[in-house]
Amino acid sequence: MQVYKFGGASIKNTEGIKNVTQIIQAYGTNNLLVVVSAMDKTTDRLQELAFAHINGDDNKHQLLEDIKSFHFDIISKLFTDTQNPVYNDVANTFVEIEWLLEEEAEDSADYLYDQIVSVGELVSSKIIAAYLNQQGTFTIWQDARNYIQTDNNYREANVQWDKTTATIQKQLPSYLSQGVVITQGFIGATSENFTSTLGREGSDYTAAIFSAALDVEKMTIWKDVPGVLNADPKWFDETEKIPQLSYHDAIELTYYGATVIHPKTIKPIKNKGIPLFVRSFIHPNETGTEVSTQATTIPVPSFIFKVNQVLLSISPKDFSFIIEENLSDIFAIFHQNKVKVNTMLNSAISFSVSIDDDQQKIERLIADLSVNFKVKYNKDMELVTIRYYNQQTIDRVTLNKKVWLEVKSRNTCQMVMKNIQ
Ligand code: ASP
Ligand code: MG
Repeated sequence: MQVYKFGGASIKNTEGIKNVTQIIQAYGTNNLLVVVSAMDKTTDRLQELAFAHINGDDNKHQLLEDIKSFHFDIISKLFTDTQNPVYNDVANTFVEIEWLLEEEAEDSADYLYDQIVSVGELVSSKIIAAYLNQQGTFTIWQDARNYIQTDNNYREANVQWDKTTATIQKQLPSYLSQGVVITQGFIGATSENFTSTLGREGSDYTAAIFSAALDVEKMTIWKDVPGVLNADPKWFDETEKIPQLSYHDAIELTYYGATVIHPKTIKPIKNKGIPLFVRSFIHPNETGTEVSTQATTIPVPSFIFKVNQVLLSISPKDFSFIIEENLSDIFAIFHQNKVKVNTMLNSAISFSVSIDDDQQKIERLIADLSVNFKVKYNKDMELVTIRYYNQQTIDRVTLNKKVWLEVKSRNTCQMVMKNIQ
């Protein structure tokens, strides 16, 4: 039994869906669970729609129309028989959003967001399931919300592992023995049966949850890159594929922001010893990257960039020591404001962190911190993490930059820096 995960880029148009269908058909006819994301940038579009609804913007209906026509355009190219039930099925799924848009946006913003944004995966999975069936591969569509049970921390819901694992183990194997099973990444349901989402880019994590519960032989993430690279091609011209990675290195790289795999993906499969393959859907015959117990990482330096960073420096107004007297209070404030710390460093009476520039969150955070602390901040910073660094690699990334903060451990170096003006 195996799990395949296909992201939005792999199914961005009709050619993409046809290609993914071939990859699935090459696998065989059963014991394959396919987890899909929303098509192309649909989640971004739905996110815009959700915010438009929450803010009461009039353009919300137009935004929905655009999302619908993108999908129906693809459907009409894939299914020449207009009687195919997929037409109605997808239309009905969009009707749920229409109903929601008719009402005043009174519920919590995060709740509304999840009800709207989750539709991307529901429709993509319906289209692909119908297409596979049309192409002769018996495919069973399953609603991930019947399996992935979460709390009601909307937009970043926490999985309730015991319930989720038990439901998957009880219900899914009988479907898997009959045909290919397709389900949605990213979405789950609360105990009251409301839709929740697991955080942006969460489909990899969904695939890992199913893989762990089913204790599969392997899990494969199909990407538009040849595997895990030592840098994002967006930033570097010359990148190298890392053929093998230990779980440990995979966790470290994704934690620091290597976007090729969602950071929550590794833990569940590592605990079950399930090997993870990252492969190219453009060149499906190539081997890609293997993350497993057997894999040993060759220490090629890897570079991870995060832009739009804000460097905050926090010091107690009463000159008390940071670590002993204040650190737990500071972290509690970060936690309440749902702000993630990307790197940190402390001195006797000051604590510096680099965080993503989310203006709303930062304003609230600074207001809360300012009760007891002096807070200074600097915007437009970059954070670079180098795993297996050496002086040469540090020199390479700091050319024409001023480094404001530097943290080094034996294998990892992080620098917060800005262009020299
Ligand atoms: N569609 C969701 C997103 O774009 C989840 C995913 O693609 O992993 O965030
Ligand atoms: Mg995606």
